[in-house]
Amino acid sequence: MEKSELLKSGEFLVREVKPEDIFIPEEYDEEQLMIARTCRDFLEAEVYQHMEQLEKGDRELMKSLLKKSGELGLMGIAVSEEYGGFGQSFVTQMLAAETIGAAYSFSVAFMAHCGIGTLPIMYFGNEEQRERYVTKLATGELLGAYCLTEPGAGSDANSGKSNALPSEDGSHYVLNGQKMWITNAGFADTQTVFAKIENDRVLSAFIVDTASEGVVIGPDEHKMGIKGSSTAQIYYNDVKVPSANLLGKRGEGFRIALSILHMGRIKLGANVIGAAKRAITNSVKYASERKQFGTQIANFGAIKHKLAEMVIRTFAAESATYRVSRDIDDLVGQYKSEGCEKGRATIDAIAHYAVEAAILKVYGSEMLDFVADEAVQIHGGMGYSAEMEVERGYRDSRINRIFEGTNEINRILVVDTAMKRAMKGKYGLFEEAEKLAGAIGSMEIYKAKKPDDFFTEKSGYIKNLKKIALLLLNAASNTYDRKLVHEQEILNNISDIIMEIYITESLALRVKKIELIKGDAGIYRDILDVYVYDTVQKVRKWAMDAIHSIDNESSEGLIKAVGDLSDTAGVNVKAARRRIADKLIEDNTYKF
Ligand SMILES: Cc1cc2nc3c(=O)[nH]c(=O)nc-3n(C[C@H](O)[C@H](O)[C@H](O)COP(=O)(O)OP(=O)(O)OC[C@H]3O[C@@H](n4cnc5c(N)ncnc54)[C@H](O)[C@@H]3O)c2cc1C
Repeated sequence: MEKSELLKSGEFLVREVKPEDIFIPEEYDEEQLMIARTCRDFLEAEVYQHMEQLEKGDRELMKSLLKKSGELGLMGIAVSEEYGGFGQSFVTQMLAAETIGAAYSFSVAFMAHCGIGTLPIMYFGNEEQRERYVTKLATGELLGAYCLTEPGAGSDANSGKSNALPSEDGSHYVLNGQKMWITNAGFADTQTVFAKIENDRVLSAFIVDTASEGVVIGPDEHKMGIKGSSTAQIYYNDVKVPSANLLGKRGEGFRIALSILHMGRIKLGANVIGAAKRAITNSVKYASERKQFGTQIANFGAIKHKLAEMVIRTFAAESATYRVSRDIDDLVGQYKSEGCEKGRATIDAIAHYAVEAAILKVYGSEMLDFVADEAVQIHGGMGYSAEMEVERGYRDSRINRIFEGTNEINRILVVDTAMKRAMKGKYGLFEEAEKLAGAIGSMEIYKAKKPDDFFTEKSGYIKNLKKIALLLLNAASNTYDRKLVHEQEILNNISDIIMEIYITESLALRVKKIELIKGDAGIYRDILDVYVYDTVQKVRKWAMDAIHSIDNESSEGLIKAVGDLSDTAGVNVKAARRRIADKLIEDNTYKF
């Protein structure tokens, strides 16, 4: 099947995509499945048995498990072959991240090392720096950390006070400052540290060896969850950093920091899927064993509803995650064919999909919080007991909404980045929005009608939702212009709508592709049926909230249009959810 031209970030709002344009997890090849199996086997053989000891904050144990995973080659999946890694595709990296994501705080330590701990040097280092560091980070000989946050600089990361002064002879910088909340601080050998050189207004990045004189690591923080992951403050007292350890150019630090955060967000989107699938498997096993009122609790409709909804949201998140992963792979290929070096091609391709990265981060972290919470509920009192894995899963899930940029920051990013990219003329978002608003009383609105087939109906609703997003973007930007940035509540409404459109469209394309491949999408039609129905109701509410908040002279027309655009045929959601739950109960494990 011929693939259409690659989408620009956020362009999904104004362009139609065909099922053959996207990658779906049902298309993993043998090698990808083998890598996932290797990751899973490693967790089963080496990690899960130590979880309680890790939770006690045993830094040495965590360090030794990380080293073992390195010896097995797991740390080299994203690293190019010339630096000792395996140079796997982005889809494969994401599948590995998903699999490791089921391993609680080990996953956080592992991902921090392989992602933010290794990739700044891999993507932005020069040849000598890559040889010296990346080759050892790829095998676990060195362990890495990423030091951006400071006591006074969290979300506003560029406001840090850490400072680097060049020595008179130019041989080194003298680094002073304090970093906070640093993952792997307790044992990392190598740190990427962000600091301002002299009186610069923007950050630069440095590779700092922890063994350098003047680097002081604080004790681990007492945290709510991910207790096995070492998180500490780091102090730099007149630390001599060789000039050769400046990463990238002077003043390039903020760009490096942001690029790495885009990558971290996308990978977090994969991690949470692994964690959600494990929580679902634990939940269905418990629900099938636990009896009350003379029957297994899995037989109760209320429990089936929970189990089904956990599956639906996980499956939806997974659809979007691998869709964008393949888009990134394709863009890397395009950049490379244009002469770009592989490391740079990868990080540029990830940065290109900044809107989608933020969507995966926000949607995925909130999906996991929902799943983890329902997992506890299904376990009843036992869910509150530290004896059960779901208790740990609940505590560990919460961090995902905070790090890699809080969900508040990422929600704003979704709208802001889509609008900025469109303004730069990358695609006709505003033109389409103007056109629609101009024809508000006569625009084409999809209405369910027989004999439309299942997929025509679903894609008709998704087209309607895109129109709602465009109408709101138009109304909000016309009303507030540059002051829109101060209207975060409205931006949040629009952001939630954009996110749901991307997730729903990805799910619809996946289910249609499954049908094209297998001839019948079966239970996946139920997943899509429920999801689209729910999404339309949610979008209607968010859109109405935004319109009443904007309250300008065109509100009346907008209210009518949104009402018409969010009109759906009814769905027997009870029966659909029961079928989904019954499959889960029969499989007794997540197998969708
Ligand atoms: C366990 C853990 C591990 C971490 N690991 C690392 C690491 O390895 N390396 C590293 O550098 N950092 C790390 N962090 C730091 C993390 O990235 C920050 O905590 C995060 O970016 C938020 O910064 P903050 O905690 O200062 O919160 P703040 O920025 O003070 O935010 C507080 C609240 O205000 C909101 N807020 C802030 N600004 C805005 C705005 N403009 N609009 C709307 N709302 C806003 C936030 O969303 C949040 O709800 C880690 C944190 C934790 C807890």
